[in-house]
Amino acid sequence: MAIEPLELLRQTFPGIQSPEELAQLAQLARRATYPPGTVLCREGAYEKVLYLICEGEVVITKRLDAAEDSHLVLRRAGSGDYFGEMAIISDAPRSATVTTTTETTVLEIDQDIFRTILERNPNLAMQMVRQTFDRLRQNDRTTLEELRKALQTLEKLDRAKLDFIEVTAHELRTPLTIMHGYASMMLADPIVRENPALREMVEGIINGSQRLHEIVNNMLDVQRIDLAQIAVAAVPVSLPLVLRGAEMQFRDALKQRRLTLQMDLAQDEGDSSIYIEADPRLLSKAFSHILMNAIKYTPDGGAIRITLRYEDHPILERVAHVQIADTGIGIDPEHHTLIFEKFYRLGDVQLHSSGKTAFKAGGPGLGLAIARGVVLAHGGQIWVESEGHDEVNFKGSTFHVVLPVQAASRQKMALLRARYGD
Ligand code: ADP
Repeated sequence: MAIEPLELLRQTFPGIQSPEELAQLAQLARRATYPPGTVLCREGAYEKVLYLICEGEVVITKRLDAAEDSHLVLRRAGSGDYFGEMAIISDAPRSATVTTTTETTVLEIDQDIFRTILERNPNLAMQMVRQTFDRLRQNDRTTLEELRKALQTLEKLDRAKLDFIEVTAHELRTPLTIMHGYASMMLADPIVRENPALREMVEGIINGSQRLHEIVNNMLDVQRIDLAQIAVAAVPVSLPLVLRGAEMQFRDALKQRRLTLQMDLAQDEGDSSIYIEADPRLLSKAFSHILMNAIKYTPDGGAIRITLRYEDHPILERVAHVQIADTGIGIDPEHHTLIFEKFYRLGDVQLHSSGKTAFKAGGPGLGLAIARGVVLAHGGQIWVESEGHDEVNFKGSTFHVVLPVQAASRQKMALLRARYGD
């Protein structure tokens, strides 16, 4: 249904009450009719026209991907609507593309017209700007509300995923235990033990079921961490002992892969027995995940270096700072935060080699989520530094873990999160 220009302007700028001012605006605005398929606003372009639709329909779209030609339809607009309002007050590029879908008649107000209005009637210009801002604020509010709803949906989905993980992990545990039990019994049988081919097969079943068991346990760990059910049983812990324990765990893998592991574990100012207040079981878990990754993502013959230093921290006071550096494939900066999310993994899953510590061995993407959960539960910090993924020069990655020497209070933890984020 067509709307007359005066009425359209009255609806668009309800703050303008004087009929003379409206008439003045109607006189200055340009009226134009476009055939369907005309692009009135082009995303990214610097255009200076505000459009008010008298009659017809347009579609407002946004590019989803710069490379691909896929678009998201934001909304459709018809008579009485307006778009491109930012053009009259700023020189920002268009944030979306607007295309006519039917023959469309519009009123156009460009920056030159607006400047004339500003000169002739500053009050009218002010009204227009005020209303434009009101509408932008309203748009912001709507967008925020939509984001809040989307977040709620994501939280629900995440919760459903956690429930699924728990059920699956528990369901898998029982048959796995049975499989492992029978395979161990078979291995004890002389018929199997004395037949190398059979023995290899049964050992294969045992190794496979152990690996599956570890994955199931990791799934349960990550679920506990997500539900904040992680209980830190803090006792005095010697970090060098924990780190050497992690090294022991991977001694065979390091040898097999010809990786050198250097340890540089400082003692605190000559005190050879510094202890930190932490949960040794959880810390071993976290460091073995990080070390396992350093092994997995470093090619044969590479080097890993673990450094421990005690430092002063602006919030946590005295801290232990562990760095695990490798000469591996490295990680591009855009993934530095995401790799700590559960199930986030990089590279082509199809190309991942198998085996727990083989080069680029695929994992379920849980290790770093567990490590992060453990470190945060201790009131510490974890992050990665890497120039980027590079499988030619292998510049590697360095994982940093900072742990308070004395268990952090809730207050300090909150302060830490407020300043550095999660
Ligand atoms: P995964 O089970 O896949 O190893 P993680 O949560 O431990 O899962 O790690 C997530 C992703 O981070 C990995 O898939 C890998 O791409 C990357 N990553 C982790 N550690 C390293 C490292 N030391 N060097 C290069 N990439 C790494």
